[in-house]
Amino acid sequence: AQGLGGSHVLGYTAQMNAEASERLRLSNDLYRALERQEFELHYQPQIALQDGRLTGFEALLRWHHPRLGRVSPLRFIPLAEENGQIISIGCWVLAEACQRLASWQQLAPGVRMAVNLSARQFAAANLLHSIEAALDFSGLPPSLLEIEITEGTAMVDAERTVGTLLQLKSLGVKLALDDFGTGYSSLAYLKRFPLDVLKVDQSFVRNILTSAGDRAITQAVISLASSFGMSVIAEGVEREEQKQLLQQMGCDAYQGYLFSPPLSAQDVAEHLPEWMTARVP
Ligand code: C2E
Ligand code: CA
Ligand code: CA
Ligand code: CA
Repeated sequence: AQGLGGSHVLGYTAQMNAEASERLRLSNDLYRALERQEFELHYQPQIALQDGRLTGFEALLRWHHPRLGRVSPLRFIPLAEENGQIISIGCWVLAEACQRLASWQQLAPGVRMAVNLSARQFAAANLLHSIEAALDFSGLPPSLLEIEITEGTAMVDAERTVGTLLQLKSLGVKLALDDFGTGYSSLAYLKRFPLDVLKVDQSFVRNILTSAGDRAITQAVISLASSFGMSVIAEGVEREEQKQLLQQMGCDAYQGYLFSPPLSAQDVAEHLPEWMTARVP
């Protein structure tokens, strides 16, 4: 017979096995997800703090799993990174996002589309080609596409990142550093990365009203960006008071549930006329 400790260990192991086999199953399901058209992009508006103008969208990937329903990108992107599917999924995301923005050109001239790249995509040999292909096929002006990489991705091999960013820059696309403040960028590299935008991570924005420390970090990011000639977007803005404080701090733009959650293309198209006329920050 087993003692208490034994069954406890066994239960724990069983749970770990269930978790591992679920991951494996999800990972396998990813191989078919593209051809079965289970992916969709949602788009979150980015709003200028100065005048309330719509400046851009961030494209965010959604997976409608046939059995599990909606699976969070926080769960499946790491699996797609591991099994390599992120490369073909990422190409689809780029193409879809560019085509969608191109289709909104009449309604929303000058509005940008930000697309997230994973670390593996950023290091892939076909990176430049897949971005050029998405731009060519959609006819979108390169300056309307913004490529987001996280600080973590940028610092995997910072020296190499400088070169890759310069190549991307030469295509004419804009470059944003996502989740800024959560990693370990040295300021020396930050200066060498040819970035257009810094995104203040939502973990700082979340506590900006209550934590003097997070407020100080946010202010430092804003000052840093302005001294490097970059603009700053705050993400995860949920409350009017957060928005007002960010505005006072000199932040350029924000995104978050306060203005809108990420929306389907159809919902965006419905809102666009109203967003393009609204000028209330
Ligand atoms: P991220 O790039 O930092 O994206 C911001 C996340 O915050 C999104 O979660 C967005 O829905 C969520 N968010 C927006 N406004 C608010 C708010 O006011 N409050 C809070 N609490 N959250 C807010 P989502 O869509 O679940 O995406 C999670 C992460 O998955 C993204 O974080 C990004 O790292 C990754 N991801 C999403 N789409 C893609 C993609 O196409 N490619 C790659 N490589 N990664 C993606
Ligand atoms: Ca992002
Ligand atoms: Ca982010
Ligand atoms: Ca984040």
